[in-house]
Amino acid sequence: MLVVMKANVEQHEIDRVCAAIRDMGLDPHPIPGQVRTAIGMTGNTGPVDPGRLAALPGVVELIQVTQPYKLTGREMQPEDSIVRVGDVEFGGPSIAVIAGPCSVETRDQTMTTARCVRERGADVLRGGAYKPRTSPYAFQGLGREGLDILATARAETGMPVVSEVVDVETFGAVEDAVDMFQIGARNMQNYSLLKRAGRSRKPVLLKRSMSATLKEFLLAAEYIMAGGNRDVILCERGIRSFSDFARFTLDLTIVPELKRITHLPVIVDPSHAAGRRELVIPLARAAIAVGADGIIVEVHPEPEKALSDGPQALTPDMFEELMEELRIITPAVRRASRVTA
Ligand code: PEP
Ligand code: MN
Repeated sequence: MLVVMKANVEQHEIDRVCAAIRDMGLDPHPIPGQVRTAIGMTGNTGPVDPGRLAALPGVVELIQVTQPYKLTGREMQPEDSIVRVGDVEFGGPSIAVIAGPCSVETRDQTMTTARCVRERGADVLRGGAYKPRTSPYAFQGLGREGLDILATARAETGMPVVSEVVDVETFGAVEDAVDMFQIGARNMQNYSLLKRAGRSRKPVLLKRSMSATLKEFLLAAEYIMAGGNRDVILCERGIRSFSDFARFTLDLTIVPELKRITHLPVIVDPSHAAGRRELVIPLARAAIAVGADGIIVEVHPEPEKALSDGPQALTPDMFEELMEELRIITPAVRRASRVTA
């Protein structure tokens, strides 16, 4: 149920509706809009009796929310959400580019990559300090040392930083060090991690699991939003299919469908989908053309020496070429670019 308030509603009227919702044993979620405030509610397992709420001062209309993803859906909030990461906006008129290594390996490797992507116009630096690896024998990340290196890169380049959280135990350390944290594909349905992310006040980059339906993806985002964190960016990164020529199948079809259903920004990760660097640039072009609000790509100064995901890392030259191509594609799809020539 969505309670739509009159234009120029008074704060005490909003407070009164919220209190009435709490009295019903539910959680109110005020959603300020450009014209009027609406108040969503969650926690009900069946239909809500509208009687009491309809009579309260300032209430104009009660709308039944039919979809299971309530806070993420456009029924509750028709206007696009803009998520700010440092001074970078996701979901606004401009597309944003996140770039950096898969893993933080050494100070030198991270600083070189950070400078390289900054000079070529990246908006946000990525780099994993805690890595969820398929094999327990593979490089697991530098942990806290990696976070320190990212802090140096952030201070030197001025770029906001995104890094992955893999468990509740190390959540606080990552949260303190970064501007946005990533919940990776393998943890998209880790409900304790999603709930912890809901209590954070930093933006979350939520990747689609390699086997998640659109509904499961949005319900994972719903966990974070129901916990009180509205700043969620969705990321399509490839799903499993019978296709055997790439690491995953990039499901670009989900991008316009997500944009239709949810107000949250949607970005695309062509690197993990492709698994091979020669496929990354064409997929990134397609992502922007299909309506993504940005991309996240892996870049490494010496990909053959990378400790994780080397085959899919763009070289600095390839990243430069990608940025040049985005400068052509972006205005063609009527988006602005933060990328300046
Ligand atoms: C990553 O970003 O390095 C990563 C592990 O991504 P994903 O969760 O999409 O596999
Ligand atoms: Mn990776």
